[in-house]
Amino acid sequence: DGRVARIASAIRVIPDFPKPGIMFQDITTLLLDTKAFRDTIDLFVERYKDKDISVVAGIEARGFIFGPPIALAIGAKFVPMRKPNKLPGEVISEEYSLEYGTDTMEMHVGAVQAGERALVIDDLIATGGTLCAALRLLERVGVHVVECACVIELPELKGRDRLGDKPLFVLVNAA
Ligand code: 5GP
Repeated sequence: DGRVARIASAIRVIPDFPKPGIMFQDITTLLLDTKAFRDTIDLFVERYKDKDISVVAGIEARGFIFGPPIALAIGAKFVPMRKPNKLPGEVISEEYSLEYGTDTMEMHVGAVQAGERALVIDDLIATGGTLCAALRLLERVGVHVVECACVIELPELKGRDRLGDKPLFVLVNAA
């Protein structure tokens, strides 16, 4: 699919951000390329449109960019999975480990119902810790996560293994 090559080349790599040694995959340049941005959304929509998905759960912050257009196109609702103390209503939370320390992800109580089928979307999977926390949060309330999807995977970090047998779909592999 020639679309993937264009998407891959529209992603900018910024060395030493946010700290020395990190090669940051910057998707803001993908958003500037109107064809590549549209193709990104289309590839996900083609994959998920007939899968009976009623929830697209997007992870803060860049899952908020890719999730809503996919949700609208497949006729699903969009549910934000947020950093702590951002959501105003009652939340359920899930703690997860980072390289140094822990973080927490939150979702509004009542946003999803037991038995719904969800897609979880983020821009990038590195260690997989973030997606795992989202999965646990949704599964705790009885939602079936059909698949996780990201624009970019860093395969060397083996985040995919952390998801166990939960399928992961990505468009681009990065070094
Ligand atoms: P993980 O939990 O898989 O280790 O890290 C994934 C999370 O960190 C995602 O929410 C993603 O947005 C963010 N992240 C980590 N590294 C990068 C990067 O190089 N580029 C971008 N765009 N996001 C990153």
